Amino acid sequence: MEVRPEALAAFQRAGREAHANPAALHRAGRRAQGVLEDARDRVAAVLRCSASEIIFCSSATEANNISILGAARAMERVHGKSPHLVSSKAEHPSVLGPLRHLQQMGCRLSLVPLENGARVPVEKLLQAAEGGEGANLFALQWANNETGTVQDWDALASAVLDSSFLHCDAVQGIGKLPFADSIFSSHALVVSGHKIGAPKGVAALRLSPLAMLDPVSFGGGHQRGFRPGTESPDLATSFATALELAVAEQAAFARETLSAKTALLEILKNEFPQLVCQQPEEGNSLPNTCSLSFPNMDGRKLLPALDAEGLAVSSGSACSAGAPKPSSVLLACGVSAELARATVRISFGCGQGEVIGKKVGAVVVAVLDRIYKVGNL
Ligand code: PLP
Repeated sequence: MEVRPEALAAFQRAGREAHANPAALHRAGRRAQGVLEDARDRVAAVLRCSASEIIFCSSATEANNISILGAARAMERVHGKSPHLVSSKAEHPSVLGPLRHLQQMGCRLSLVPLENGARVPVEKLLQAAEGGEGANLFALQWANNETGTVQDWDALASAVLDSSFLHCDAVQGIGKLPFADSIFSSHALVVSGHKIGAPKGVAALRLSPLAMLDPVSFGGGHQRGFRPGTESPDLATSFATALELAVAEQAAFARETLSAKTALLEILKNEFPQLVCQQPEEGNSLPNTCSLSFPNMDGRKLLPALDAEGLAVSSGSACSAGAPKPSSVLLACGVSAELARATVRISFGCGQGEVIGKKVGAVVVAVLDRIYKVGNL
């Protein structure tokens, strides 16, 4: 999404007025530190914790790594054996990456299979947790970035709360969903800046005082040693501004984007009865996201054709040379490789309502009609 003008203004102001290193002891350094700590206080107020629990990072990817690798290291140190990692096939690569790394280092990893729409079944999670030896480290998302599925965090969190460590990747939920109290019961919670209108290059890791974590990178002792490196008051203050606005505007965002999505789906379902919606029904899905599969569509043509019409949609998977790889999340939900290739994710953003939904619908219909026609020649 675009950087919010208020977040950009805060970034520029800090660049002018708080340009010194916040760790420096001179007056300019103290001023920079004031801006940084004010940002930390504001983020903590939104995320319902104390300022000391907020670690600024460069990305959610970094925050996920610090938390998962750090928790595993601490659990091994304290319990004398590797933790059992419990997660799902729906997770973002920035969660699966550190988990796979730990698996290579000897940890047992259980990835629970998914239900339709990439829903993580709580009972399967518990079964997996019971099957392992040693303390469990759970790493789970709040909402899925491909299908928009909102995971049942109330059930997840109450089922696994007495586990040793619960990590919540909240990147896709913040600003889109009303807060669920249960996400705050996690030991670690991750928010990405560029998903809420901050500039790229900033994220927050909220670490509960109960979180047992060892550092995984070393250098200066910044941020309690968990994220050493010179801190950026500029990015921190723009992140705080974006977070406050995203949370304050969440209800309006949900209302508007849901009406865009509803208008789009109405058009597409009418035109293409064969359409398969991968996102679950409303209430269990992000308001702005839909994942749409078009049977018998040549998946290689879909994305470039929509892109040529100015629609920045994604397939939810890495693309190389115009040949989309089928999404591993959809495959894990039992979707065939062919249908997964013929799937696009359309996400609406701030200020996009019914009118935009209808416009997008008209463009998608025209593009798909063309591709289906060529396919039938
Ligand atoms: N987790 C989820 C669910 C995401 O959707 C993303 C990015 O799209 C990330 C983590 C990684 O965020 P970042 O780009 O800040 O590293």
